[in-house]
Amino acid sequence: MKTAIISSEASEQHLTGDGHPEQPKRILSIKNKLKTRKDLIWQEPENVPNEILEITHSNEYIKNIKKSFPLDGLKFLDGDTVISPGSKKAVYDAAGSVIRAINGIEKGEFKNAFCAVRPPGHHAEKNKAMGFCVINQAGIALNYLVNKFKYKKVACVDFDVHWGNGNYDVMRNNKNALYISTHQYPFYPGGGTDKDKGNFNNSLNIPLPAGTNSEQYFNAFNRVLDRLSNYKPDFLLFSAGFDAHKDDPLAQFELNSKDFYEITKRTLKATSKYTNGKVVSILEGGYDLNALAESTNEHVNALIEFN
Ligand SMILES: [Zn+2]
Repeated sequence: MKTAIISSEASEQHLTGDGHPEQPKRILSIKNKLKTRKDLIWQEPENVPNEILEITHSNEYIKNIKKSFPLDGLKFLDGDTVISPGSKKAVYDAAGSVIRAINGIEKGEFKNAFCAVRPPGHHAEKNKAMGFCVINQAGIALNYLVNKFKYKKVACVDFDVHWGNGNYDVMRNNKNALYISTHQYPFYPGGGTDKDKGNFNNSLNIPLPAGTNSEQYFNAFNRVLDRLSNYKPDFLLFSAGFDAHKDDPLAQFELNSKDFYEITKRTLKATSKYTNGKVVSILEGGYDLNALAESTNEHVNALIEFN
């Protein structure tokens, strides 16, 4: 079976203003790189069922978001989370990409999937847009897997260089979720220390200092692999941010593009006997366009290898 890329042209119509690092070119650079390959299935998002949206975010938040998209110009949801008229479809398509990915895997159309969408989602909390994120894609995926397909142990590995406060907020209270994050600390958005264990001891947070290099990262990553081996997840999610790359302008880790192949391969090796290789990966950060395209390609290489 194959690996699918779920993408939508709407991702390119979500405008954030000149000079904003979370820009449409991010998606274009990924698509340009992945389109040169012949070993991928390309698919478009589906709609997110309302009941899944409503258990992931509060009703009030969803109502507010629905009416906040501007008819022209830009609107700020917080200091750095910007939306434009084209953002409405982009936001719902980003959330709907994980629905398409899960349905395709469950129907046996493909083995695993990478959602190349924006805006990202891992900073979006139940009640708050934040850090370029509006709807929490990983949370939507978790709730869809648990509610529709009755998965019991969904692990989310978040290797974005920032702590996924939104993922933690949405998953900490869910007995069917294990949220794991490696991230730069102290750093935006704050939090994500070893004290953040989730309500059911269902979260592992590994804060690492600025300057963390490949060797130091993979030493720490062994803790991620141990926890996954003990947990034995029945489905795996990646919050796949590529801003831990040494060339990334927003953070200070020193990983290279190949390291994202290793992160992915080691995680899949530790989990595929339990998940039967079922993986949905969701794009989060990554702001150097070349590093982003290269690193995503390496991540996809490992997804394909585990088909
Ligand atoms: Zn990030």
